[in-house]
Amino acid sequence: MNGSVIFLKACHIYEIVNFNFGKKDAVMIVDLRSDTLTKPTPEMMEAMMNASVGDDVFGEDPTVNELEKKCAELFDMEDAIYCPSGTMTNQIGLNVLSQPYEEVICYEGAHIYRYEGGGVAGNSGLSFRLLKGNRGRLNVDDIKANINPDDIHFPKTSVIALENTVNKGGGCHYQLDEIRRIRELSMEYGLKMHLDGARLFNALVETGEGPAAYGKCFDTLSLCLSKGLGAPVGSVLIGKAKHIKQARRVRKFFGGGMRQAGYLAAAGLYALDHHVNRLKEDHYRANEIGKALIGLNFVDEVLPVDTNIVIFRLADDLTANDFLQELSGHGVKAVPFGSNEVRFVTHLDFNDEMLERTIEILKSLKIK
Ligand SMILES: *Cc1c(COP(=O)(O)O)cnc(C)c1O
Repeated sequence: MNGSVIFLKACHIYEIVNFNFGKKDAVMIVDLRSDTLTKPTPEMMEAMMNASVGDDVFGEDPTVNELEKKCAELFDMEDAIYCPSGTMTNQIGLNVLSQPYEEVICYEGAHIYRYEGGGVAGNSGLSFRLLKGNRGRLNVDDIKANINPDDIHFPKTSVIALENTVNKGGGCHYQLDEIRRIRELSMEYGLKMHLDGARLFNALVETGEGPAAYGKCFDTLSLCLSKGLGAPVGSVLIGKAKHIKQARRVRKFFGGGMRQAGYLAAAGLYALDHHVNRLKEDHYRANEIGKALIGLNFVDEVLPVDTNIVIFRLADDLTANDFLQELSGHGVKAVPFGSNEVRFVTHLDFNDEMLERTIEILKSLKIK
């Protein structure tokens, strides 16, 4: 046996042991904290170990090149660049579309504003104009009203950044028509558009819209392979050739140039081929959890469940931390989303058996 076969066997044994443990014993751990928690399937692992690799900083990794080409073609855009994280693809995208002192219009709960450590200010010298949106979805009139006039007092508005699906909005998604209207506005005012598409495929499998239609609406588009798609690492920034050319320079000085990254890119290719359509299963399971939560005495409100995210508000006197502590005592993990809101995210490693168990536990909790 060679090394990779032994490794695969070990993975397989681990799966069997884990499975039996879950089956027989009352202690089943269900982890709904994030869709980033998934581990590569044995098939994905095999694709990774069989990857052809080279030095990607020299542009010589055939698997990275294949992934970048596939993404560019899928979205009908000119080029793409593979990066270690979605934070990096967002940061690079905004950097190549702007100049220091300019302003980015986005949702007040957007990942680029709230969850990237203030990177945009330091990395690119930009400020934000924050909008409320409808669960984080911006509309064309709101955006138009927030484009700064040409006046020396104001920062120059340069980028409209959208997020789809919207994480803080409970995984809701845009309709393409609204995005097209925003695109027209951006053309009229000479603004660039960036999409944080960390979970774009979750939106696409729900709406039935194709990736190419999205490619037409944005200058740069960031796509995470390590969320619902189940790859262990990696995001792709897709865009015009000139922007991606500059992105290679920026990725280098951000420290994101990787060498034999094809082992990781192979997971991304595998995910695009095998894990897109199954996202619907995650949406189904999230919806079942959402339905089970409605009417429970410790739940005040459940946001509509549109994709793989469930956000709900707890009844008045119950804090998210107290609730989550109780829940984890029963083997179910989730994260707080504000002081009395909780988020569940379904994913590739959350199956029907775990769904049943989660609903059983939620219904049996005696909190009040
Ligand atoms: C996860 C996520 C990202 C990227 O996160 P990384 O952990 O840096 O890969 C970007 N935007 C949204 C909305 C996300 O949920």
